[in-house]
Amino acid sequence: MLKLCSRCNKKFPVTMFNKNKRSADGLGYQCKSCKKGMDRKSRLLHRDQRITYDRNRWHARREHNLLQRKLHAKIIEGYTSNLWQSLSK
Ligand SMILES: [Zn+2]
Repeated sequence: MLKLCSRCNKKFPVTMFNKNKRSADGLGYQCKSCKKGMDRKSRLLHRDQRITYDRNRWHARREHNLLQRKLHAKIIEGYTSNLWQSLSK
């Protein structure tokens, strides 16, 4: 018995498909070799996402720190200019 792989559109014997309880015939939609490739791809994708996530977090923290520093500088600047203004009056 052959089954069409939904990914590579080739026919394979059903033994080339993993079991999938949710599908109508109890078999996966993709052949094992496609599934393997997809799993590897998704793992790589997830790894990349993880790296991007960490990088974004680091960036967010950095931006936050910079902002805090700028804000602090602004406060000091405002304080000093107020001081100067009150002194010059
Ligand atoms: Zn396939």
